[in-house]
Formats: sequence, C-alpha cells, structure tokens
Amino acid sequence: MSDFIVGLTGGIGSGKTTVSALFAARGVSVIDTDEIARQLTAAGGEAMPVIVAEFGPGITDGAGALDRNAMRRLVFSDPGARQRLEALLHPRIARIALQACAAASTPYVILAVPLLVESGGWKEYCDRVLVVDCDEALQVKRVMARSQLAENEVRAILSAQANRAQRQAIADDLIDNNAEPSVLAAAVDALHLRYLDLARQKLAAKTGAKC
Ligand code: ATP
Repeated sequence: MSDFIVGLTGGIGSGKTTVSALFAARGVSVIDTDEIARQLTAAGGEAMPVIVAEFGPGITDGAGALDRNAMRRLVFSDPGARQRLEALLHPRIARIALQACAAASTPYVILAVPLLVESGGWKEYCDRVLVVDCDEALQVKRVMARSQLAENEVRAILSAQANRAQRQAIADDLIDNNAEPSVLAAAVDALHLRYLDLARQKLAAKTGAKC
C-alpha cells in the first residue's frame, strides 16, 4: 500500500508520458488520470449511463462510447456543458485514481494529472507536485510532430491551458525537458531517490519509527 503521492503535471506535449515511463522503468506505479477518463467514457464505461442521461444519446458514437467530437461541438456552443461533464467525471476519476494509489505496492506512486493546475482539488491529494516543463515553441513542435494538428490548433490548446508560470508556481520539483530526452534519465534518478526518502520519512512519522 502506497501512502506517498507525487502529482505529475505539465502542458500538452511537455513530456509527461516520457517522464512517467522513466519512473515506471524504475519500478514505480504510475496512475494516469487521462487513462482512467478514457476507461470511464469507453463503450460500457462506468460514466456512460450518467453522461447519456445528462446529454442525451447523441453524445455517444455507434459503439456507445463518448463521441469526443460531438462533445467538443457541444462544449463550443454551450460553455456550461464542460462544467456539467466535469462534474460527472471528476469525482469518479478521483475515486478510482485514489483507490489505485492506495492499492499500489511501491513506496510512492506517480499520479499523472495533465490538468492538475486547471482542475483544482488534485493538489490536496499530492505529497509533492512534479512539473515537466519546456519552452512553448518546443511543445508546439513536438505535438505537431506526433499529431495531425496544425500549429494554430496546438497554440489554441496551449492558450486554453495554464501557462508555464502558473505551473511553476505550484511545483515542488521541476523537470526541465528542453534538452535531449537522454538527459531526463539522470533527473528522474535523482527525483526517484528523493521520493523514496520522503516516502520513508512519511511512513516513519506515521508509525513512530526512526528513519
Ligand atoms: P500530452 O500532453 O499531449 O499527452 P505529454 O506531456 O505526455 O503530451 P510526451 O508524449 O511525453 O508529452 O512528449 C510529446 C512528444 O515529444 C512525444 O512524441 C515525445 O516522444 C517527444 N519528446 C518528449 N521529450 C522530448 C525531448 N526531450 N526531445 C525530443 N522529443 C521529446
């Protein structure tokens, strides 16, 4: 059972998945809230009945999963729709994520929350917040390289997210991902040692044992 949660966040294309994979390679449990959201809104997903009850069957694709394009159109024409969807999804994501954190058998867990800054509430569950950061120009370049999105589309997503200063303001730790991916390993190694130590200290404080 893991009782030390490191919240991992960063803007689109900043390198969260890459960094998560490096922690996972060191044996750390990684819980990804995006993945939980995908499962909840897949065909037969736990959230689908309440989403259909709220928005109608037109919000699903042929298989019964959330139709993301239809949802995007709805959110565009009705700004309150996003809040209604989030009110249905967030408590479910939080419940499943925190259960997974508690069930993890590693000394600490990485809880990947892309919108940790934007959707308040996550920070209170985290013992530490780790932000992956890189220049906006690199974010745009990397997202364009791996998707079909045009530059203006990536920039529109960026401007809807928190900015780098807002993320840095809540960071306990920061990974600079402006360089080659190969340099990330050393940064993750150092953080891994620190988190193991902090998790040990928290456990010792809880059980009254000496470190
Ligand atoms: P998203 O928010 O879109 O899920 P992310 O924050 O998880 O993105 P990654 O998927 O890790 O970011 O990285 C975005 C892209 O940039 C990927 O194609 C990844 O391989 C690449 N990338 C990550 N770090 C670097 C780096 N230091 N140098 C070059 N490419 C990188």
